[in-house]
Amino acid sequence: EGEGRVALVSGGNRGIGLEICRQLAAKGIAVVLGSRDERRGREAAEGIAGRVVAHQLDVADQESVDRIAAYVEREFGRLDILVNNAGVAPDGGQRGVEADLEKVREALEINLLGAWRLSRAFIPLMRRNGYGRIVNVSSGLGSISEMGGGSPAYRVSKAALNALTRILASELRGTGVLVNAVCPGWVQTEMGSPGAPRPVQEGADTPVWAATLPKGGPTGGFFRDRRPIPW
Ligand code: NDP
Repeated sequence: EGEGRVALVSGGNRGIGLEICRQLAAKGIAVVLGSRDERRGREAAEGIAGRVVAHQLDVADQESVDRIAAYVEREFGRLDILVNNAGVAPDGGQRGVEADLEKVREALEINLLGAWRLSRAFIPLMRRNGYGRIVNVSSGLGSISEMGGGSPAYRVSKAALNALTRILASELRGTGVLVNAVCPGWVQTEMGSPGAPRPVQEGADTPVWAATLPKGGPTGGFFRDRRPIPW
């Protein structure tokens, strides 16, 4: 069960996604590093020890998702781990009361629909093997119970991603496919800024933990530092 595992990480070319690829590969897992830009993906994969192969992936583009799904099926015939990491934070510093709705649309397209497209594409493969781990890289800013103002597009998209997590987990209960949302904490990346407190190694820890949960592990949860946090 889960032997010879294969993982796909979206937005694997930099930031937290790149570190998730590195940590999964260090566990002997074969990693498909998804990258919007093919060349940057290849360069990133070359810098990682282990079985890592880059493939073009724009999560906002259904045809790109279809292509990577066909590739994974052809090359590996299975997918054990899907990490929906690709994300954008297009409206830092903005307020909901005067929100730019194009930014809202962009955040939903990538942060919500991107994860949804990939889940739709790969859940059939996971169900066929009776094994799957889907990790939605969310954010504490999407927590409804702690919702405040600012970054409205980002917050709404992550709250919606959390809802999707619950829906998929509920529908897949008993199939061997576990679906969880995680918050990496505030991490030193382009999105998090260099002044953030956490290095990427720490930010990737909980996503990788959720990607490698044992049989019977939690599903439909929201975690930071490997512990449940409020929705
Ligand atoms: P970065 O901005 O450093 O990296 C974002 C990654 O997402 C890049 O690889 C980028 O690709 C990719 N991406 C963006 N849009 C698309 C798309 N349409 N298709 C495919 N890939 C895309 O962000 P982080 O590494 O910090 O963030 C990773 C995840 O963690 C995000 O979901 C983010 O919301 C979440 N998060 C981050 C926090 C932090 O403090 N850093 C805090 C809480 C959550 P490209 O290089 O081509 O732009």
